[in-house]
Amino acid sequence: MPVAAISPDVLAKYEPVIGLEVHVQLLTATKMFCGCANRFGADPNTNTCPVCLGLPGALPVTNAKAIEFATLASLALNCQVRERSIFARKNYFYPDLPKGYQISQYDKPLAEHGWIEVPTSSKTNKRIGITRLHMEEDAGKSLHDGFSDSATRTYLDLNRCGTPLAEIVSEPDIRTPDEAFEYLTRLKEILLYAGVSDCNMEEGSLRCDANVSVRPRGQEKFGTKAEVKNVNSFKFVRAALEYEIERQIEVIESGGSVKQETRLWNANDGSTYSMRSKEQAHDYRYFPEPDLPPLIVSAEFLSETRKKLPELPEARRARMIAEYELSVQDAHTLTASREFADRFEAAARTARNPRRVANVLLSEVGGRLKALGLEQEQSPVSMAGIVLVADLLDEGKISSKQMKQLFDVCFEKGEDFAAVYEREKPEQITDASALEKLIDETIAANPKQVEQYRAGKKTMAGFFVGQVMRASKGQANPALLNELVTRKLEG
Ligand SMILES: [Zn+2]
Repeated sequence: MPVAAISPDVLAKYEPVIGLEVHVQLLTATKMFCGCANRFGADPNTNTCPVCLGLPGALPVTNAKAIEFATLASLALNCQVRERSIFARKNYFYPDLPKGYQISQYDKPLAEHGWIEVPTSSKTNKRIGITRLHMEEDAGKSLHDGFSDSATRTYLDLNRCGTPLAEIVSEPDIRTPDEAFEYLTRLKEILLYAGVSDCNMEEGSLRCDANVSVRPRGQEKFGTKAEVKNVNSFKFVRAALEYEIERQIEVIESGGSVKQETRLWNANDGSTYSMRSKEQAHDYRYFPEPDLPPLIVSAEFLSETRKKLPELPEARRARMIAEYELSVQDAHTLTASREFADRFEAAARTARNPRRVANVLLSEVGGRLKALGLEQEQSPVSMAGIVLVADLLDEGKISSKQMKQLFDVCFEKGEDFAAVYEREKPEQITDASALEKLIDETIAANPKQVEQYRAGKKTMAGFFVGQVMRASKGQANPALLNELVTRKLEG
């Protein structure tokens, strides 16, 4: 049921309180406690063994790589890693959980007390606390649709059983759906940079549940919360929270009280539905996993793992803003993925002027890609091509007008810059006397601008360079032109 519109005045009386639980699959080659392949998309029930099927007598062995990845993620999220954490059995019955319990961590998780900084509407950063990061194994998958007899049968695919997960629980520090969106965006970015998960929401490697309540502004005590599940994109998380906040305010405003319950998001009609009340919620009867020893993270392992941590997105942006004189927006574009930022920086460092590489990439190539609705990977111009352009500009071998013409050809024919440049190497006027003639004509035609220049407005030189460049149809050698214009104006 869509919520009736609530007036902004009423909305403003309440403060939402939001906490997020995120599950990410770790990018290990094998599963959490057995040697089965950890791979999405295999034929159903082909990546299984007695351990992940929970057959009697099979014993789990913890995957060292999963511990390393979970520790890396903990460090990247500013968490304190516990020296001794405990695996615990979380007991429940479900068809996709053949063991009847999930190995998780309970009162002694791997890591606690972390945080992420997110930008807010007031342009300042806000720190969102991370309560804990713990390790656990995933369950299998029930397949309810897609078979000829799906009306009467449910099928099971147990390939996902035992996939290593990190569950990351935030503090209830989030106050708006936009903050929730930013938190998730930053979290995903950090995990991708750390290389611990592919965070692919469509394939289920990143899943998010949201806890949300509202309270009158100024009130200390939290309101009753609802948990929203089944939200498979960050935009939907934001929409589900917006819906849920209004729904709860409406319940309270009409004299009712919010029920503690689990609700499902329905993307088709943009609303949430009650799935089960908390009275029916499971008691998982956690107890320490008897088949696994405590997990010990030594100081040595911790410091070795810390060395593997790459420069993280926020720090990288700050450095790149200074190094390449970028705007915040441009820094975000260049660091959208670690792989892209790495490629850009490796290329930029080979150029005469790295800042110019950033500039050509963002304004020339980026502008064209955007206009054509293409992604960076679809660009006909390689990073090496962009470095070539930047160097040619820097050496004055092409003008910016010629660069634009060459890029036109690149995008028209889908060819890289080097090939186009070799074939169509633009003519350049490097003959000083020919340029001087054009400069003299321009100076004669613009006495007012000459006067301004000579009165001290030195930036007028750019006007003359532009005029002569145009008169030369973009063929004047830029370095020579600059030098001659200045000489003539000073003379
Ligand atoms: Zn297995």
